[in-house]
Amino acid sequence: MKTIYSLKNVTKDYYLNKIVVPALRGIDFEIFEKECLAFVGPSGSGKSTLLHILGTVDSPTSGKIYFNNNDVSSLNDTQLSDIRATKIGFIFQNFNLVPVLNVFENVEYPLRIRNISLTKDIKNKIFKLIEDVGLKDFYKRKPNELSGGQRQRVAIARALVNDPVVILADEPTANLDSKTGDMILALIKELSIKHNSTIVFSTHDQKIMNFVEKKVLIFDGKITDIQKT
Ligand code: ADP
Ligand code: MG
Repeated sequence: MKTIYSLKNVTKDYYLNKIVVPALRGIDFEIFEKECLAFVGPSGSGKSTLLHILGTVDSPTSGKIYFNNNDVSSLNDTQLSDIRATKIGFIFQNFNLVPVLNVFENVEYPLRIRNISLTKDIKNKIFKLIEDVGLKDFYKRKPNELSGGQRQRVAIARALVNDPVVILADEPTANLDSKTGDMILALIKELSIKHNSTIVFSTHDQKIMNFVEKKVLIFDGKITDIQKT
């Protein structure tokens, strides 16, 4: 199995009014290609911090993180934004869509910021993704004309548009009712398999984590248990 991420004694401290808030307290962990896993823990346990570090949008206070065997701390800003734009798909609790763009434009957005021109093939790819997430008839709608579940479907299509190696989904169901949440998780899983992506969830809802292969329990910034199903 190919290792995608390797974390060595990763810690993260935040400073709030000069008081140290230790968010991660020594994480040693590996994530393998095509794994489907979830970091599970209560609010404040460090899940989002960990996903931000995996997404290279934040860096550890100490310790090392390797992505595809590259020491992330040795990469410059251009190399990091390149990795984020081409290898990592993000799905957030609050969907994070661009309100003034319609569904098609939101899915296209990661390509646009890389200055990739909209050829017929790319257009077709975007339409296919929109169809795959069940929004074929909604591609001209703006986010505020969609339900929460539909908005998260747009975010899933957007996360997949660059064929990422890994999808990081931070509590993707937290703002959805439980039935919609289950459908969204199933869709993320189905499409990550289809696109050969590794998938890393964070959640504090254990009920909906039944279908992940590995649950990594996290508490007070430390991994307390790993449960495989
Ligand atoms: P989770 O996603 O599991 O709820 P977080 O990673 O968001 O946990 O937070 C872990 C800890 O770090 C919490 O105590 C939180 O208050 C603190 N924290 C997170 N982000 C910041 C920040 N930007 N500044 C200060 N403290 C933070
Ligand atoms: Mg969080």
